[in-house]
Amino acid sequence: MPQGHIARKRFGQNFLSDAGIIRQIIDAIAPKPGEAIVEIGPGLGAITVPLQAACGHLHVVEIDRDLIAKLKQTWSPAQITIHEGDALKFDFGTLPAPLRVVGNLPYNISTPLLFHFASYAERVRDMTFMLQKEVVDRMVAEPDSEAYGRLSVMLQYRFNMASLFDVPPTAFKPAPKVTSAIVYMQPRPASECSCRDEGLLGKIVTAAFGQRRKTLRNTLRDHVSDADFAALGINPQARGETLSVQDYVRITDYLVEHKTDLAG
Ligand code: SAM
Repeated sequence: MPQGHIARKRFGQNFLSDAGIIRQIIDAIAPKPGEAIVEIGPGLGAITVPLQAACGHLHVVEIDRDLIAKLKQTWSPAQITIHEGDALKFDFGTLPAPLRVVGNLPYNISTPLLFHFASYAERVRDMTFMLQKEVVDRMVAEPDSEAYGRLSVMLQYRFNMASLFDVPPTAFKPAPKVTSAIVYMQPRPASECSCRDEGLLGKIVTAAFGQRRKTLRNTLRDHVSDADFAALGINPQARGETLSVQDYVRITDYLVEHKTDLAG
């Protein structure tokens, strides 16, 4: 790829430059010819080049016009389909399924991006992302740990996830301030994501983690009474971080079944 690009902070541009790490990422993805793969933020092509070499054709979504111009100079449409614009607004439903999604994601928008991808989970085979290690730790965190929160519950509801390996700041140019990590995400079968109202699940989880030091009786007072907690077998004195993903699904399903007056 042509270089000479000045990294733009507002687009979260830290370009991978460590050949060993690039190889590890490609090995983790293990791309095969003919697979439908989309890369978010190809940048200067650090992982685009080996990905395209392995799978033949690749979709990419890139927001930076200068980088798009460079991509167009380098690749033919037969090799890469370039989707110009914001990945947060991109309709991944227009790409072939089952889709493999990969990317060294811009860290400043990683959480909204993850939720955007989650809305396409049914069309996705798997996703392999580089993110801030702190975010990956939150995604895969278990109940009763400091990192466990809304991101853990909402993503674990939809995906099986594993943190694969860490990547030091020295692997990038310019070097970010934080350590990164590679996370692998595979959508759970639809039969396992059977919460009866996912919108309400989101509201309950957001409320439960809104004030971490408070009890569930306090944080969920608008939704769940002491009688409901008793029927669910959940201690209202407990705090949000003690409940499993399944507990949150049980609370939501119980409310859908027993309450007709749920505040929108
Ligand atoms: N993949 C390259 C690498 O590993 O060296 C670049 C990674 S850099 C961390 C993030 C990339 O995402 C940049 O190319 C940036 O321009 C692009 N980007 C930032 N925000 C974006 C958005 N909202 N939609 C699509 N691409 C975006």
